[in-house]
Amino acid sequence: MPASKQLLITGVSSGFGRALAQEALAAGHRVVGTVRSAQAADAFQALAPGRARARLLDVTDTAAIAPTVDAIEAAHGPIDVLVNNAGYGHEGILEESPLEQMRQQFEVNVFGAVAMIQAVLPHMRARRAGHILNITSMGGFITMPGIAYYCGSKFALEGIGEVLGKEVAALGIHVTSVAPGSFRTDWAGRSMVRTPRSIGDYDALFDPIRQRRQEVSGRQLGDPRKAAQAMLAVIDSHAPPAHLLLGSDALQLVRDKLTALERELTQWEALTVSTDG
Ligand code: NAP
Repeated sequence: MPASKQLLITGVSSGFGRALAQEALAAGHRVVGTVRSAQAADAFQALAPGRARARLLDVTDTAAIAPTVDAIEAAHGPIDVLVNNAGYGHEGILEESPLEQMRQQFEVNVFGAVAMIQAVLPHMRARRAGHILNITSMGGFITMPGIAYYCGSKFALEGIGEVLGKEVAALGIHVTSVAPGSFRTDWAGRSMVRTPRSIGDYDALFDPIRQRRQEVSGRQLGDPRKAAQAMLAVIDSHAPPAHLLLGSDALQLVRDKLTALERELTQWEALTVSTDG
């Protein structure tokens, strides 16, 4: 049985965060989970009194993040693993979607995660130990019409996590970007922000995509509990990966993207190298 660890997971009210917290508690770990209401805090702590602890935190309240992390360390001891899970999907055609919705998407999915990382790093560096998991998405590798802001935020978090991993590897800290495919969480349901349609030119392209996403919500291929077990395996690993895809859909789509990218690189290779010298 692997050693008991303390995990700090953002967004444990539902979905991946909740599933990971439950599986971690069942495996004997301790979990501090962030939520956004007193009711969610009570429900979370009832999962395992004394080992499931809730903190109220909206990750866009960046001024509150470091004091919250410091208070957790002081009250409950070392945070061995940070899981940046809190996030949501914005859906909307780029031309139709106000910039403010892009800012908000990045505030939560990118700035919130980076602020959490900056808050735990002084503690992890002092111990020369720690593991940071960022829940990105297959949308951090592949794209489709109607989720430009979401994919942008997840590409950003993939890139930031990859750089961070290179900066902290020698300090004993691992960084893993976990990129799930489609899973049965509240992501495409109550949590999704959908920009209303306004430009008819995009009807034929986007309306079927929006409709399909609503139809399959709750019936996606991936099981969040199995994702949680996979994440625990990564947390237990002595040599965790920088990137981990979850789900056969993610694997196929990312492989297709890499194949198409390689084909395009080759097709344009002569022009690419023509700029040397
Ligand atoms: P979910 O069931 O909607 O859970 C999202 C969690 O994030 C909730 O606990 C939510 O809290 C929290 N959250 C949202 N905005 C927040 C904020 N500003 N501050 C603090 N907490 C916030 O969906 P999920 O699928 O588990 O999402 C978790 C992560 O997985 C997200 O980063 C998402 O992008 C990613 N992901 C999901 C899928 C999928 O198919 N489900 C695929 C790839 C990646 P409240 O209850 O207070 O709203």
